[in-house]
Amino acid sequence: MIKRVVFVSALLFTLSSTQGMWGFFAHQSINRLAVFTLPIEMVGFYKHHIRYITENSVNPDKRRYAVEGEAPRHYLDADVYGDSSIYTLPRYWGEAVEKYTVDTLNTYGIVPWHIYSVKQWLTEAMQVQDVPAILRLSADLGHYIADANVPLHTTENYNGQLTNQYGIHGFWESRLPELFSEDFNYFVGKSTYIGNTQFKAWHALAQAHEALDSVLLFEKELTAEFGADKKFSFETRGTRTIKVYSKGFAKAYHQRLNGMVERQMRKAIKMTGDYWYTCWVDSGQPDLQRLINYEFSEEEILQRKKELEEWKQQKYSGREHETR
Ligand SMILES: [Zn+2]
Repeated sequence: MIKRVVFVSALLFTLSSTQGMWGFFAHQSINRLAVFTLPIEMVGFYKHHIRYITENSVNPDKRRYAVEGEAPRHYLDADVYGDSSIYTLPRYWGEAVEKYTVDTLNTYGIVPWHIYSVKQWLTEAMQVQDVPAILRLSADLGHYIADANVPLHTTENYNGQLTNQYGIHGFWESRLPELFSEDFNYFVGKSTYIGNTQFKAWHALAQAHEALDSVLLFEKELTAEFGADKKFSFETRGTRTIKVYSKGFAKAYHQRLNGMVERQMRKAIKMTGDYWYTCWVDSGQPDLQRLINYEFSEEEILQRKKELEEWKQQKYSGREHETR
């Protein structure tokens, strides 16, 4: 019996964390929907490759263990630097390194600085019209932007592990979108040019961080109201029975958050489109239409398959429990 309980809860956390990281579903939706914000000069190329942009939205999570230095690109533990540090941390990488060292920054996450690096790389890829790089970096950029809009990516208490709320990460960013996103309004308008892409990333992160108190508090309040037996339920997926946050608990939480998950998803969609557009403008507005018929080589497809296999291996090795 004890064994079974352990087994079931391990599965709960497996699901919450591997489907987590905004979940496959949310990351894919954000990248896909960002395509439709683009201006006429860009939308043809991105639509033509929409499947790639969508499927590869989760690449950065897949390579977290295979690529050294990947893990800290997805978050920033703002609270370890002290109160209000989200507003005062150096916005520019060079200044941050001078103040804290690369090691410290990598320990507590670098997402806002990394968004800017990818923005620069994508601009360069557009300048030289390197199609595989344009697609790969566009997909990556959408991923990091989406992560920066998740309140739990801005704290060292990223999975509620410090406040006895373990599992809240996947609950917020996977379970809620999966249950309720059908009713979300994804119309975010046309992409617009960003004057300062460094400040913009920090602005998004600060807004996400401001929502963190509610994310944790409401879950705590509802846990007290529901009790453990109503908080969780069991669902069958394929041949497996898994423990999940119950639909009743999820609905109550979603209502108390008052549209927060939808708001953050909308911000991520708009921001992704804005960054792609800004890269294109900054690169001198290359003719993407001319690049539209690029086909991936056998080698590139094989490489992607290999990465996927490696990631699946890691997924079942148990290491994903530490992800966010
Ligand atoms: Zn991520």
